[in-house]
Amino acid sequence: MTKFVYDFAEGDRDQKDLLGGKGANLAEMTNLGLPVPPGFTITTEACRTYLAEGSEPPGLADEVTEHLVALEKAMGKGLGQADDPLLVSVRSGAKFSMPGMMETVLNVGLNDSSVQGLASQAGDDRFAWDSYRRLIQMFGATVLGIEAEHFVDALEDAKKAKGTTDDLDLDAGDFTALVETFKGVVREHAGRDFPQDPREQMDLAIRAVFDSWNSPRANVYRRQERIPADLGTAVSVCSMVFGNLGMDSGTGVAFTRDPASGEQGIYGDYLQNAQGEDVVAGIRNTLHLTELERIDKASYDELLGIMTTLERHYRDLCDIEFTIERGKLWMLQTRVGKRTAAAAFTVAIQLVDEGLIDMDEALLRVTGHQLAQLMFPRFDRDADKERLTTGMNASPGAASGVAVFDSPTAVRRNKGGEKVILVRRETNPDDLDGMIAAEGVLTSRGGRTSHAAVVARGMGKTAVCGAEELEVDVRARKMTTPDGREIVEGDTISIDGTNGEVYLGEVPVVSSPVMAWFEGTNTERGELVEAVDRILSHADGARRLRVRTNSDTGEDSALARQFGAEGIGLCRTEHMFLGERRELVENLVLAETRDDREKCLQALLPLQIEDFTAIYRAMEGLPVTIRLLDPPLHEFLPDYTELSVEVALDRERGTLTEEKEELLANVRRLHEQNPMLGLRGVRLGIAVPGLFAMQVRAITRAAATLAAEGVTVLPEIMVPLVGTVQELQAVAAEIAEVVAEPESAVNGRPVEHQVGTMIELPRAALVAAQIAETAQFFSFGTNDLTQTTWGFSRDDVESSFFSEYLESGIFGVSPFESLDVEGVGELVEIASWRGREVRHDLKLGICGEHGGDPDSVHFFHRAGLDYVSCSPFRVPVARLEAGRAAV
Ligand code: ADP
Ligand code: MG
Ligand code: MG
Repeated sequence: MTKFVYDFAEGDRDQKDLLGGKGANLAEMTNLGLPVPPGFTITTEACRTYLAEGSEPPGLADEVTEHLVALEKAMGKGLGQADDPLLVSVRSGAKFSMPGMMETVLNVGLNDSSVQGLASQAGDDRFAWDSYRRLIQMFGATVLGIEAEHFVDALEDAKKAKGTTDDLDLDAGDFTALVETFKGVVREHAGRDFPQDPREQMDLAIRAVFDSWNSPRANVYRRQERIPADLGTAVSVCSMVFGNLGMDSGTGVAFTRDPASGEQGIYGDYLQNAQGEDVVAGIRNTLHLTELERIDKASYDELLGIMTTLERHYRDLCDIEFTIERGKLWMLQTRVGKRTAAAAFTVAIQLVDEGLIDMDEALLRVTGHQLAQLMFPRFDRDADKERLTTGMNASPGAASGVAVFDSPTAVRRNKGGEKVILVRRETNPDDLDGMIAAEGVLTSRGGRTSHAAVVARGMGKTAVCGAEELEVDVRARKMTTPDGREIVEGDTISIDGTNGEVYLGEVPVVSSPVMAWFEGTNTERGELVEAVDRILSHADGARRLRVRTNSDTGEDSALARQFGAEGIGLCRTEHMFLGERRELVENLVLAETRDDREKCLQALLPLQIEDFTAIYRAMEGLPVTIRLLDPPLHEFLPDYTELSVEVALDRERGTLTEEKEELLANVRRLHEQNPMLGLRGVRLGIAVPGLFAMQVRAITRAAATLAAEGVTVLPEIMVPLVGTVQELQAVAAEIAEVVAEPESAVNGRPVEHQVGTMIELPRAALVAAQIAETAQFFSFGTNDLTQTTWGFSRDDVESSFFSEYLESGIFGVSPFESLDVEGVGELVEIASWRGREVRHDLKLGICGEHGGDPDSVHFFHRAGLDYVSCSPFRVPVARLEAGRAAV
């Protein structure tokens, strides 16, 4: 027979699956000998069965009875016993903490007669009737589903009648009357009387806790936090202790260290003469926990002692709930406490220094995500701020600028040297330029998976999304706050992507201390920087994966080195062809004669040499992977639609030139329905003769020149979008010819270099063995590999059906954000095996967005890759996660 009920003394903290976090930790504290009111826990398994079958599993009721009888015996009184009642709380508690999402009912066991017994036992009528009305209130709302407002209103009325706003001014008579009123509320709204039978109360409360697993808000929370929907909750039945027995009683919450900074000290709140839920509900102002020392020194000292015990035992920061009943301290809950990113690092190092954990463990207690948070600039905390509204904290950071309401304006004003915040109802791919130009993005619609949020996070841009109170009027170029204030285009606003707040005016920002440390500009190290430094160094020592960066300028490369990059994994050359050089490329593409083409290439060559020289210098001594031109042709040509309109207009006006007409014909000829699957990558290199050769020439000549100066350069030439080895062979032959040119030689020998390819088509992954015959390295382009494996175009799908997929759970997370290990990951592994079988020292890396994603990094470690490459700002994150994957 399955066991569904565990006494607190029977469990331990490792049984969170079965007993829920709360139950498992109550058990742990009980076995530590801490003062926990006795009780028992009904397993999550019972809940799962109940939810699946629609009724309690057979045997559960008997088992509950057995444990209840034992509890009654231990306590020397019966549940709801008329002259001296045992009262219990019926508490929810899932494996993962879901604060406030499910239900708890206190004071179960009180009825019309046991309330008298409780009063005489405690010698306090007020207390007994207050407890009774609390039971009816909680039971009514939670178990019977009555709107909580009905009870709150009645309570307010009672206080008003008394001429007070404070519960403490109500006396026994008031609460006795309130109990009658509450019973009336139950009768009216639930169509039944408040149950007088204590066991019925308990059974109904247990069932209500089970049911609360599926409450809408619990479901929403789980989806947000990616907690599986089928775990179920445990139910802990715990004998009541009373914080509302007078001023020598009370209830509180505490942390063993500051969860915001990690500092050691006394952190908590205490409320005299109150029951647990009052602290959270904010009924009265709480006292700082240090005040307890004055109020009740013995309990205070005991509490501090227990906190030390818990920290040593859990070897981590804990939070706790406690109650003092007439000078006696009781522990009601503990768990490893949630904390900020900064506290995660400092606490981990404190614990190492206290000898409680080792460095490996410290490394496992922080995440790349937390490190990334510590790198964002932040608003100066001390600055004066005027808050306009609050939205969702979609992408962390702090940004100020003038409000603009469309992308072209964002681009225009940004070009004019202004910082802008792009404000939209929601964004779509057409807003990309605007987003790039903006310091940050503010939307009034959409959540954390909206286009704006996803794209902003990808770009490391600050975003506040779904600020629903804002009325955004794009046509009128203004937004209106709920209190009627209008912000028009050009007004300065500030958005805080870390807490979702929106302010009027410019709030000054400061580099975070951690960022300043990477940049080498901070003066004092401080505890946080010290902690980050030590943990990151440990990660560096532990990791097997190397971390490179994606960079196409000398500047970015230098920055990435400061972040610890060990080379460049992806230098995109297309960015070098935009701006003023676009026209050269346009001419190249449209060139009709060999001569015209040669002229363009000649013009481009010195420019490319300059580009590569800067990068080599910044990355001296480290490998630099340069990808030959990849994007579809049309990106370098005038827009087909715009040009057609122009030509039509010119024709009407009679000003059309032959040249323009010809240009349109050419653009039409090269126009593609689906450029992503069209003439790009290696196909382009083969179709436009001389293009790749020019690039290779720049790569090798720049390298040869520097090598002659004694600078160590290690270029790796990477051919994009290869699907068959024949393509690679053709380009490799071209490369070999260029390398043989005297200008590419150092001391009469060809400059040191490697030739490899990107694996970004499923076919390439499958024929990796053939490709590895020619390629010295593979770099998995996981962005394209994801697109081509799934058959969807990132630019199109992310803004169309992705949010639906995420909401309905078809995706847990976007495959562009975190690598689809089952599908795309399998292709990575296949290509790695097949490639290495042919060439044992085949170098394997990845250069998609995924290189900076923590989960993906762990997969790449397992898959045996040599390095990941990511944007400069993600380099420390990847270093940390690669270390975490290795310990
Ligand atoms: P939550 O998960 O929302 O914190 P809890 O089950 O912890 O719910 O209970 C809500 C409040 O009631 C907490 O403040 C808790 O300390 C208090 N509480 C729970 N059980 C008891 C009990 N047996 N005696 C006194 N207070 C209790
Ligand atoms: Mg609690
Ligand atoms: Mg690609």
